Amino acid sequence: MFFTQTSKVFVLTGAGISAESGIRTFRDANGLWEEHRVEDVASPEGFARDPKLVWKFYAQRRKQALGVKPNPAHVALARWQQRLALGGGRVFLCTQNVDDLHEQAGKEVGSTTPQILHMHGELFATRCSKVSCTTLPFRDERFEFTALPRCECGALQRPHIVWFGEIPFEMDRIKHQVRAADVFITVGSSGAVYPAAGLVREMEYRKARGESATSIYVGLERPENASSFDQVILGKAGEVLPGLIEAGQI
Ligand code: NAD
Repeated sequence: MFFTQTSKVFVLTGAGISAESGIRTFRDANGLWEEHRVEDVASPEGFARDPKLVWKFYAQRRKQALGVKPNPAHVALARWQQRLALGGGRVFLCTQNVDDLHEQAGKEVGSTTPQILHMHGELFATRCSKVSCTTLPFRDERFEFTALPRCECGALQRPHIVWFGEIPFEMDRIKHQVRAADVFITVGSSGAVYPAAGLVREMEYRKARGESATSIYVGLERPENASSFDQVILGKAGEVLPGLIEAGQI
């Protein structure tokens, strides 16, 4: 498969792309996230049960993420996004990650407005936990709290993260972009977390209808949804991806 300057590419990244920057994935921790059960620290029920634990967990993630840098995979994607935008094509970058390494990579390559959709939310953002509150989510780098943070309305604030059991952000826009893409690439995602893991199936449906639609997986091991991809390329994202993009070929 060769890319051109006018290719329309949809890239979905997962925790694996940030692994070489030093942020641990779920998979290499036996389903535990930094020693915690995911349902305790990343679910609405966990927050309702113990908001202090949840805030402590995300405060630690923020502190850790403030010290990490993008790796060659993030940088290669940022450059590619910039290059294709100039050539009339596009790289629509959608991430399941809550870190800001794609944004950092965008700045590193001089992109003023890197376009990244965080379907599972952002680590450095906070919002009110009350659904009916009209206060908007805001950028928040705090990682030390003397008390649980509260909104002006009096309700607890919560990390602006999509927890298990919640619906990812902007699904309509994401599906629209997948349908408009010639090529769908997933990088470093176990293929176990839905609906993200099901997006590749849109390319299968389109191929079945005779449309041109290619899907490629790049990551350390075969994902659970490997059979939906046309091609699975095994390796570390930071080692494999830059070469594939530079060669204009996957
Ligand atoms: P996952 O942890 O379920 O799977 C990670 C995948 O990355 C695995 O298949 C693994 O083989 C692969 N991988 C590990 N190291 C790699 C490398 N160097 N190069 C390429 N691939 C590598 O992650 P997921 O599928 O993204 O789903 C987990 C959920 O966890 C997501 O919703 C995400 O929001 C959240 N999460 C985010 C972060 C982050 O923001 N960095 C970190 C952990 C978990």
